[in-house]
Amino acid sequence: MSDHSADDARADDARAIDTYEVLIVGGGVAGLMAGVYTARASLDTVVVTADDPILTRNAHLENVPGFPAGVNPRLFLDMLRSQATRNGVDLRSGRVTRIDRVSDGAAADLPDARFVATVDRGDAVAAERVIAASWADAEYLEPLGVDLRAAGSKTYVEDDGLGRTSVEGVYAAGRIAERYHQTVIAAGHGAEVATTLIHDSAVPFYHDWVAPEGYFTDRGRDVPPGCEEVSETERRARERESMAAMREYFAEPHDERQRTHPSLVDDARGRLPEDE
Ligand SMILES: Cc1cc2nc3c(=O)[nH]c(=O)nc-3n(C[C@H](O)[C@H](O)[C@H](O)COP(=O)(O)OP(=O)(O)OC[C@H]3O[C@@H](n4cnc5c(N)ncnc54)[C@H](O)[C@@H]3O)c2cc1C
Repeated sequence: MSDHSADDARADDARAIDTYEVLIVGGGVAGLMAGVYTARASLDTVVVTADDPILTRNAHLENVPGFPAGVNPRLFLDMLRSQATRNGVDLRSGRVTRIDRVSDGAAADLPDARFVATVDRGDAVAAERVIAASWADAEYLEPLGVDLRAAGSKTYVEDDGLGRTSVEGVYAAGRIAERYHQTVIAAGHGAEVATTLIHDSAVPFYHDWVAPEGYFTDRGRDVPPGCEEVSETERRARERESMAAMREYFAEPHDERQRTHPSLVDDARGRLPEDE
């Protein structure tokens, strides 16, 4: 039998922690949009998400921009997940059960991370910054001492109006930050909080804009950090790619069944519980 020394155990622990610049907890609309923004700003980003986002309970989504006749919410989430991964987000499933400061000794040998998250399935994740987008769970933030606000059965994360919590490097986005219970507001808030995080980090950033060729440079300006100028050929190529992708998404009705409130499981309409 091999002797597994303390040094070996420490080495195993080190291997089981993946380090990112940004950890986003929760892959609903807020977390996914936040990830699109941080990944596009070249911050190495992971989204760790547990169960289905609450939007899967919606029957038909009619008040988000860009869908005049509405959209199947499960399709909308598929498209958002794909948008996140195309832009470089690492999307993982698992529930974050606690987050500790690296300096508290949770993983003292992680020089590039301030926080380390314990995940119920899979490896722990260390990160320099964390966005909580985990409606309706804030319990894993308690070891950090983040200011929370209890309201009946719900707990919200307090923020400074731009997404920063009481703990430097920890942010909150979407419904968990007590924003209105609407999809576009949660998505927009994810983008806003991610932009705050980008401004707080060392990444040079002006705006996340894609502009036609010459928009800045023909006026004698450099293309600002975070922006891109694309040629007419490139613009056409991107347009064709987006048309093909949308045709595929909208070719057939979505095959996932309707979700409903967990208290209505096994009802006469045969609706599914949350965890199936
Ligand atoms: C029946 C119903 C119909 C609705 N219809 C509409 C509508 O028509 N129009 C509209 O604008 N809005 C609608 N909404 C509201 C909208 O769905 C929400 O406001 C919005 O989706 C909230 O997004 P969020 O990203 O903040 O939270 P969520 O989408 O809930 O995302 C949070 C994610 O975090 C995960 N998570 C939680 N804890 C952890 C943890 N510890 N570790 C890892 N992951 C975790 C959750 O599993 C979830 O996937 C509806 C809501 C319901 C319930």
